[in-house]
Amino acid sequence: MKSGKCPKCGSTEVYTKRSGMQSGYTVGMGFANTKHMEADDYICMACGYFEQYLVDVSSKLKDLPSKWKKAGQ
Ligand SMILES: [Zn+2]
Repeated sequence: MKSGKCPKCGSTEVYTKRSGMQSGYTVGMGFANTKHMEADDYICMACGYFEQYLVDVSSKLKDLPSKWKKAGQ
């Protein structure tokens, strides 16, 4: 999707905007510990599929691996 091609229908009519769909997300890291995150939003104009990618994950959420459960385990 970031490349400009929809992974669902193959269209290249994909548009992106930072915080285009929502002004941000609150990510829970534990009691009284939350992070406000922005996302880059991608929408396919052909089929309506959309994706979101949080911005600055590696710096802002560097503590997340010790707070969240690793997927697939
Ligand atoms: Zn599509």
